[in-house]
Amino acid sequence: MSSHNDSSNDKVVPAAWPPPVDSQKEFVKRGLDPEDELIEVGVAIVGGGTAGLACANRLLQLLADDPETLERLGEVPVAVVEKAKTCGGHNLSGAVMRPGPLQELFPDLTREDWRKEGFAFGEVTKEAVYLTPTSKLSVRIPTPPPFKNHGNEVISVAALARYQQQQAEEAGAYILTETAATQLIVEDGAVVGVRSGDKGRGKDGEPLGNFEPGTDMKAHATVLAEGCWGHLTGAAIKEFNLAEGREPQVWELGVKEVWKVPQPLDRLIHTMGPWPLKLSHKYGQIGGTWIYPMKNEKTGEDLVSIGFVVELEYADATTSAHDLLQTFKTHPLVRKILAGGERVAWGAKALPGGGYWSMPKLSMPGAVLVGDSGGMVDTMALKGVHHCIKSGMLAARSIYAALARGESSLASYEQAIEESSVGKEMWEVRNARQPLQRGLLLGGPLSGIQQITKGRLPGRAAWHRNDETRMFVGKTKDVYPKPDGKYTFDKLSSVFITGNATRDDAPNHIRVQKRVPREIAETWRWMCPAGVYEIPEDAPEHGEVDVIVNYTNCVQCGAITAKGGRLTTPEGGDGPLYQIV
Ligand SMILES: Cc1cc2nc3c(=O)[nH]c(=O)nc-3n(C[C@H](O)[C@H](O)[C@H](O)COP(=O)(O)OP(=O)(O)OC[C@H]3O[C@@H](n4cnc5c(N)ncnc54)[C@H](O)[C@@H]3O)c2cc1C
Ligand code: SF4
Repeated sequence: MSSHNDSSNDKVVPAAWPPPVDSQKEFVKRGLDPEDELIEVGVAIVGGGTAGLACANRLLQLLADDPETLERLGEVPVAVVEKAKTCGGHNLSGAVMRPGPLQELFPDLTREDWRKEGFAFGEVTKEAVYLTPTSKLSVRIPTPPPFKNHGNEVISVAALARYQQQQAEEAGAYILTETAATQLIVEDGAVVGVRSGDKGRGKDGEPLGNFEPGTDMKAHATVLAEGCWGHLTGAAIKEFNLAEGREPQVWELGVKEVWKVPQPLDRLIHTMGPWPLKLSHKYGQIGGTWIYPMKNEKTGEDLVSIGFVVELEYADATTSAHDLLQTFKTHPLVRKILAGGERVAWGAKALPGGGYWSMPKLSMPGAVLVGDSGGMVDTMALKGVHHCIKSGMLAARSIYAALARGESSLASYEQAIEESSVGKEMWEVRNARQPLQRGLLLGGPLSGIQQITKGRLPGRAAWHRNDETRMFVGKTKDVYPKPDGKYTFDKLSSVFITGNATRDDAPNHIRVQKRVPREIAETWRWMCPAGVYEIPEDAPEHGEVDVIVNYTNCVQCGAITAKGGRLTTPEGGDGPLYQIV
């Protein structure tokens, strides 16, 4: 294996410092509380993002035509549990969306209606892809197949989730916001519901004056729609062995800003580097950017979505998606778009990058995985929203069919995904991304062949685990600009504009080892877009150092889980309140 991911020196490999977590013991509850102490619902959906809410809406559409089954599901036929203050509060995407599945979900809405509702910002009519060989140069190249976006729609997933929430509530869904599902309830080998987290605990877990214990929610079927690396999804994967025979999941981290600009941007732009990343394979860096025009029809404002995505396979501990985005903004190509504008939003989120071979088995007794929880993102094209919606709808159909027939197996969902646009599109690019783990120069041509042949070449390309990369403290950081607070920003002022509101005395929801080699501590410090990890100033240059975890800054991007730690659910209502990302 090549040098950047050679794990022979274990000590500087994140996997050698596993987080103190036993997910099956802590996050799986064996058996339900007595009947009079629990809430009973028809279908429990964990996660009010695009995928979970597509499932809720489709289920209610199907149930509306079948009063008998609806009746059998009781007073609360569909419940959605969402940890953010409102649906959308923790959702972030690029986000240029393939329109088909959303049109299928709400067939009466036109794309003009989407824009009037305020979650869509225009159809893509022009696009351009550039290489950025240096901090000054950009070279336009013919648009590679995955970047062809003609006809797609620029949206905000945060705003789309708010719209989907409103539709679901009108159709009769019970949406519990500010509520984290902290345990999967398993009885006789099947998922029978979830338990919500306690509220009002202090730093050391002690109950405070406003303490409210969590509650068991018993359900006929449970949908895990938790997004990238879900808390309960991880526990379910272990409990039911859902990743057996699959490739490991790998991750990418994206940081995004939305700018109000004086001049409308007339095209969608992608850049493929290599600048500001290092081309040398030793750094293990693969990433790219987007700049999307967003015309807000409600306010008349011209907005631009800009973001940087980096694979979490990298080896240089000083790789920071946030600072890479700030660096990218100093390129003349970007300056001329943002000049005279104002930043109105910022956010960060990880996404699953492994594609088809890394998708876990999607059903288990009593439950299914949808959207990013099931790894349904095509990272060649940076597209997951349409797969999330489609998978939510397919899960709804399988669950409805099982409930209507009084059956319990949800296995038909697996087959439905495989035969749908999700399965087909994921299959076509199943081996396209893996060659890039060998670096852009070596892997680029092979990846190109895979894309052009649309998956016709046989075989299964393996993935290397992100937490098994050997880390070193390199020079990526040397190009980061000093934030000026107007055009380039530091992490903390960025977190501030997310509306992040985590109680100062809340228990710590980030699990990492607190004493690790400097290489690992630096990895976490630079990687975290919210500036959560600090190394004391007087810590030694080499060897083990302490790690300070300022967890109240966390925006729940999930990246730490890829590089040796674990994000668990904080108290419901904590974290960012994204509006338009
Ligand atoms: C930087 C970036 C750029 C992207 N760009 C594009 C793009 O341009 N086009 C595209 O199509 N796709 C893009 N994607 C992918 C796309 O955004 C995702 O595939 C999609 O938004 C995921 O939707 P989801 O509903 O599965 O998960 P999420 O949107 O993550 O929703 C999950 C929800 O579950 C909640 N939740 C999680 N766990 C719990 C729990 N235990 N209890 C209660 N609530 C919980 C979360 O708060 C969240 O609201 C991008 C992704 C990223 C990160
Ligand atoms: S601490 Fe929070 S914001 Fe920082 S990397 Fe971990 S999950 Fe992301």
